Amino acid sequence: MRLIIATGNEDKVREIDEILQGTGFEAVSMKNAGYNPVIVEDGKTFEENALIKARAVHSLSKEYVMADDSGLCIDALNGAPGIFSARFCGEDSTYEEKFAAIFEMLKGVPQDERTAHFVCAIAVVRPDGTFFTVRGEVNGVLCETPAGENGFGYDPIFYVPEFKMTTAQMPPEQKHAISHRGKALRAMVEKLSE
Ligand code: IMP
Repeated sequence: MRLIIATGNEDKVREIDEILQGTGFEAVSMKNAGYNPVIVEDGKTFEENALIKARAVHSLSKEYVMADDSGLCIDALNGAPGIFSARFCGEDSTYEEKFAAIFEMLKGVPQDERTAHFVCAIAVVRPDGTFFTVRGEVNGVLCETPAGENGFGYDPIFYVPEFKMTTAQMPPEQKHAISHRGKALRAMVEKLSE
C-alpha cells in the first residue's frame, strides 16, 4: 500500500521508506504521486500543522497520507521558537543568526535552566478520512558554543547530556535512534501495523 508523504523533502521520504520496510507500506513523495497543493500552515500546534499538510494532500488523493511537523521548544522561552522554528528571526535568517538571538534571549538564565526539547508530530490520514497523530520528543540542554557538523537546523546547539554531545556530533544512526523524529516515526509504524 502507498503512504504518500506530504513533503517536498525527498530525503525525508527515503528515510521514511526505510523505516516502513516490512510493514506493507511504501513511502511515495507527494510530487512523485502527482500532487503539489499550496499548503498554508496556520495551525497553533505541531499536530494541527501536520494534520493540515496531510489533509491538503488527502483531499486530492484519497489514499493514506502522512505529514510531519517539528521544531525546537526552549523551556525558559515558554516553548519558543516551537512551531515557528524554521521561521525564527525571519525566513531568510541563517542558523548562526538564530543561535545568536537565542543566546541573547537566554542571557542570565542559569545553566540548569537552559533545557529544551525537540518535538516531532506526525499525522496520518486514512483513505476514508479518519486520522491519527503521534508525537516524539527528545530532551536536551542548549550549549553556549555550537558544536558538530552532522544533522541540520538547531542540532549544533542541542546538547544531549546522556551522550555528552550535541545532536550535530552524533552519527545519523545514533541521532535517529534517540530523536524526536525517530520516535514519532516508530510510533507511526506501530499504529499503521495494528
Ligand atoms: P520541519 O518540521 O521539517 O518543517 O522542521 C521545522 C524546523 O524545526 C526545522 O527547519 C528546524 O529549524 C527545526 N528542527 C526540526 N527537527 C530538527 C532536528 O532534528 N534538528 C535540528 N533542527 C530541527
